[in-house]
Order: sequence, then structure tokens, then C-alpha cells
Amino acid sequence: MNNYDIVVVGAGMVGAAAASLLARSGFSVAVIDQHEPRPFDASRAVGLRVSAFSPGSADILAEAGAWRQVERQRHCPYRRMVVEDREETSVLEFDAVEFGLDQLGTIVENELVQWSLWQSLLAMGGVEIFCPDQVSDLEYQDEGLLIRLESGVSICCSLLVAADGANSGIRKRLGIRQEHWEYGQQGLVTVVQTSTPNPGVAWQRFLPAGPLAFLPLKDGSSSIVWSLPEAEAVRLLESDEAAFLAELEQAVSGGENHWPGQLIACGPRAAFPLTMRLSERYTASRTVLIGDAAHVVHPLAGQGVNLGLLDAAGLVEVLVGARNRQLDFAGDKTLEKFGRWRRSEAELMARGMHGIKGLFMPEELGPLRRIGIGLIASSWTAKEAFIKRATGRNRNAPALARGTSLTELLHP
Ligand SMILES: Cc1cc2nc3c(=O)[nH]c(=O)nc-3n(C[C@H](O)[C@H](O)[C@H](O)COP(=O)(O)OP(=O)(O)OC[C@H]3O[C@@H](n4cnc5c(N)ncnc54)[C@H](O)[C@@H]3O)c2cc1C
Repeated sequence: MNNYDIVVVGAGMVGAAAASLLARSGFSVAVIDQHEPRPFDASRAVGLRVSAFSPGSADILAEAGAWRQVERQRHCPYRRMVVEDREETSVLEFDAVEFGLDQLGTIVENELVQWSLWQSLLAMGGVEIFCPDQVSDLEYQDEGLLIRLESGVSICCSLLVAADGANSGIRKRLGIRQEHWEYGQQGLVTVVQTSTPNPGVAWQRFLPAGPLAFLPLKDGSSSIVWSLPEAEAVRLLESDEAAFLAELEQAVSGGENHWPGQLIACGPRAAFPLTMRLSERYTASRTVLIGDAAHVVHPLAGQGVNLGLLDAAGLVEVLVGARNRQLDFAGDKTLEKFGRWRRSEAELMARGMHGIKGLFMPEELGPLRRIGIGLIASSWTAKEAFIKRATGRNRNAPALARGTSLTELLHP
């Protein structure tokens, strides 16, 4: 029988980062995923799924052994962030320099991060990978959990970490309910070439149907996420490139702050359903949920994977803390501490996104919106609080996101 301290189900960006950090902290770890990530190839065009990684997330990924590989390949730091109301009468701007930072974040393809983490897991001792495989049964035993895999292998562990994404089979198996916010919207994504190269600005405009974001890529093009009602998204996916670009041009044009310039071309298009979900709890006996398995937030603030990486770092901090005090790292008290901490952070984010979305969408809230943006724009304290959270370095963030190294965490 294979015996491990911790089994992580799901080696997406969040699960793989957690597994790497836990193994580097001295736990014996097994990872289960239904398929291997596709090898990253920098000669291919930029992938459709990119994320804005905060400096805090970059620190976590560095400790997980993946960031150097990311930096060597393809990423695009951004130093300015501009958020506009649809009429461009209210503009909120953030510049890294104002906050003494080199950058506000970096845009990276999800595939590259996942591949770099996978490489780091393969290169490491102390991690066993079961892939392709899936959990077929879970059984609680006196001292831990017995996990049966589809391949017929059985493994035992003290703690199960469910990082198996938004439709987490482990969460369903444990009967953990979720609060849902359904928007009937899709996020349309593509890569767009503009007449003026993107100058390293993450730009977002709130349109009546939902936010439209342009994220900078290394070659001067932009990766866009356009939130649209489902039928609109389907129509724009099916339209030809010229018709699509004409509608996108209309959505970005107007006002003095007009940035993206003329739209020249776009790559393949895809759309993803937009929802918000929050699990009623993050823990069950000897089990924790992290990443999208625990919460899904609206991509308007680009915080989904960042929140998941903070879960991974928070889990390591709590488990190592318990072990340092000779407590059971998989005991209820330890897991509840983690669950309360990370769930309250995700709830703040999910409700905040829901509130922002509610404030920005309706036409009749225009005056209120302008007052709100004006107040934030003129308040250094409000802007600083926003930036601390967006960079993953607020007071409640795990130590690994705030500059503490794994070595310092292990030997306080
Ligand atoms: C349009 C869009 C834009 C976004 N932009 C951003 C952004 O800019 N910034 C940001 O922070 N976030 C963004 N997000 C959110 C972000 O993509 C997710 O939060 C993140 O990918 C979740 O990672 P995860 O590892 O938790 O889950 P996943 O990536 O879903 O990984 C789950 C893993 O579990 C495995 N798995 C699933 N089921 C099983 C099973 N039964 N057995 C074994 N393995 C299993 C899967 O194969 C996969 O490897 C965006 C989301 C959308 C839809």
C-alpha cells in the first residue's frame, strides 16, 4: 500500500503549486490528475488562456520552483492599470511607480505556468504522480483516508487536498454545498493586434453588458476578455473577423482616453461561462478544498488563480505551523483554521466583485458610479488598499506572498 502525508487531487496551476510547496516543506506528497499538461512551446502563438499574476503570486510560484522557467519563456509585466466607466467620464488609474513597485503584475499563459509547475514536480523527490488517473472511491479509516484510483491502485494519506477545479468531484462527493451567482454571461477571449502596440497597460472598460479588458502581451498585442450575454457571445464567436473587429472597435472607441488604437487583426476566439461560486465550507474531516474547487470569482478583477495560489501558500503556512508546534497537521482544528482564513478572504473577493459588477452595469447608476470612482481616484488610502489586495500583499495574505521565503517559514 502506498502511504503519503498528503494527496493532492488536481494538478492545475493551484494543485501543482500546492503539491510542490508541500513537498518542499518535507511532507510526502502524491498528486493525481486525469491528464498531463501539454508541453509549452514558445514558438507557438500565444495561447487563449492567460492570467494576470500578481507579484505575490510570482513569489509563491518562485518558491514552488516554477517562476524562473516562466520568466525565461514568455510573460509581459504591466506597470499601469486603467479602469474606465463606459462614458470615460470617470477613470481610475494606477501606476506601479506611485506605490514604489516595479510592476503591478505580469500576464502569463496558463499553459506555461502549468507546464513549469509540472516540470518542477517531475524534478523533485518526495512527490509521486498518478497520471492519467482519477479517484474512484474514498474511505475514512481510523488514522487517515484510503483512496482507490480508477487504475486499481490504492493509496493512504493523512490529508486530501481537493484542487480539482470548479466542478470538483471531491467537493460533490463530500456533499459540500456552494452559493452560486449565475450571470448568463460568457467571457469571450482572443488575442488582438492594434495599430499602437500595447504600452504595458492593463486596460478595462465597463460597458452596459459587462467589462471588457485588454491585457498586454510581450509582442505588443493584447489578450482580451469581453464579458457578454450568452447569445451575444455566441453571435460574436460565429461572426467573421472583420465584423467582430468592427464591433470590438465600437466598444473601445469614444472619449479622450481612447487607447487601443485601430484594431488590425485577431486570433482564434473562444468563450467561457462566467459564474461566481463560494463553497459553504472549505474543509471536511482530513480534507481541504483549494482554488476553483473552493471558489470561482468573476474574472473582472483577474483574481481567480491568484486567490487559488494564496490558498496554496496559506495551506502550507498553516500545516507547517501546526507541525512546528507538534500538532496534528491534518487534525480538525488545523484544517478549520485554514478554512476560516481562506474562505473569509474569498468571500470578500466574491462579494466585492459582485458589488462592483452591480454598480457598473445598470444605466441608472451612472451618477453613483461617477461619485464612487471619483472618491476612490482622489483617495490615496483607498487606492493603496486596492493595490495591496490586487498585488497579493495585503495584511491578511499568506507570508509567502509577502516576501517570506519557504526556508524562513520552515525555520521561524
Ligand atoms: C475568461 C476567464 C479569464 C480569466 N482570467 C483570469 C486572470 O486574469 N487572472 C486570474 O487570476 N484568474 C483568471 N481566471 C480564473 C482562472 O483561470 C482560474 O481561477 C484557475 O485556472 C483555476 O485553477 P485551478 O488549478 O484551481 O483549477 P483548474 O485549472 O480547473 O485545474 C483543475 C485540475 O484538476 C484536474 N481534475 C479535474 N477533475 C479531476 C478528477 N476527477 N480527477 C483528477 N484530476 C481532475 C484537471 O485536469 C485540472 O488539471 C479567468 C477565468 C476565465 C473563465
